[in-house]
Amino acid sequence: MAGTIQLRQLTSLRMGGAPVCYFHPRTEAELLAALEQCLRRGLSWRVLGGGSNLLVEEGTLPYAVIHIHAPGFDFIERKDGASLRVGAGVPTAGLLAFCRREGLGGLEFLAGLPGTVGGAVAGNAGAWGKEVCDRLARLRVVSTQSAAMVRHRSEIECAYRHADLSGGIVTEAEFELRPTSPELIAERMAECCRLRAERHPPAGRSAGCIFKNPPHGSAGKLLDLCGLKGRQVGGVEVSQRHANFILNRGGAVAGDALRLIRIMREAVRRQFGIELDLEVRHWPARSKVA
Ligand SMILES: Cc1cc2nc3c(=O)[nH]c(=O)nc-3n(C[C@H](O)[C@H](O)[C@H](O)COP(=O)(O)OP(=O)(O)OC[C@H]3O[C@@H](n4cnc5c(N)ncnc54)[C@H](O)[C@@H]3O)c2cc1C
Repeated sequence: MAGTIQLRQLTSLRMGGAPVCYFHPRTEAELLAALEQCLRRGLSWRVLGGGSNLLVEEGTLPYAVIHIHAPGFDFIERKDGASLRVGAGVPTAGLLAFCRREGLGGLEFLAGLPGTVGGAVAGNAGAWGKEVCDRLARLRVVSTQSAAMVRHRSEIECAYRHADLSGGIVTEAEFELRPTSPELIAERMAECCRLRAERHPPAGRSAGCIFKNPPHGSAGKLLDLCGLKGRQVGGVEVSQRHANFILNRGGAVAGDALRLIRIMREAVRRQFGIELDLEVRHWPARSKVA
């Protein structure tokens, strides 16, 4: 289950080097064995889901990467009423297809969102004013402190693009949904996809929004007002469609993206006095600081 891999193969931005150790556990027992191995070897670790919200540097990554992705943790089980138990490795698109088939509404706003259920929960993914945590009932979480524990929604602090997992790894999530006709779900999903197609760049080598929106504002609008659309550094470019997306034009490295991000952040600071926080997760390589 351990081995080496270049993370550029597993991230939507197509950037990133090799971690000192890579695990792709398919069961909780394998996940616990991976954590034990990290502890024994004195390695810290990071969790990789679908890799759609990551900016990973090239070179050697001085930590283990634990990949929670199908195959593994990829079950969906309908419970009583309108609740669903879902493995963290299920692609968000797979969960939505299941919800549509079963007539369970509430997560349609995620239509078109790449990545896994684990990643969506960990980042409290959201769109069009709605967030994953609004529909969350409980999580099953594994950590080095405890083999596996169930955490109820009331015990999890959720904020804008953040769920406090206290360093734990999500292995499954339970969602509380609403009986809704499949036709209505399909209609709502199509509308969300239409809005995405209109406002976001076409599917390509991006990682979604680079910055979080500042309170009462839109990072994309501020970046647009700074005239940054189309700005390039090396192989990366600010999207012409949405100024909060950067695209890998091919062959770009994380250093290009980090330089462009610095330019974007400085432009907004200079013009509006606003400090933008990263939404994308930055994974540094050896001897670099996050
Ligand atoms: C074209 C495009 C559009 C996007 N649009 C949106 C949008 O509208 N809204 C939005 O919120 N995001 C958006 N994103 C970003 C991204 O798709 C979401 O944040 C997604 O939920 C990340 O899931 P992932 O599995 O890819 O996570 P990853 O990128 O693999 O990881 C993201 C974070 O979650 C952690 N993580 C992943 N899995 C687990 C787990 N099982 N347990 C604990 N931690 C875990 C990782 O350690 C990391 O910190 C977009 C991205 C792209 C490329």
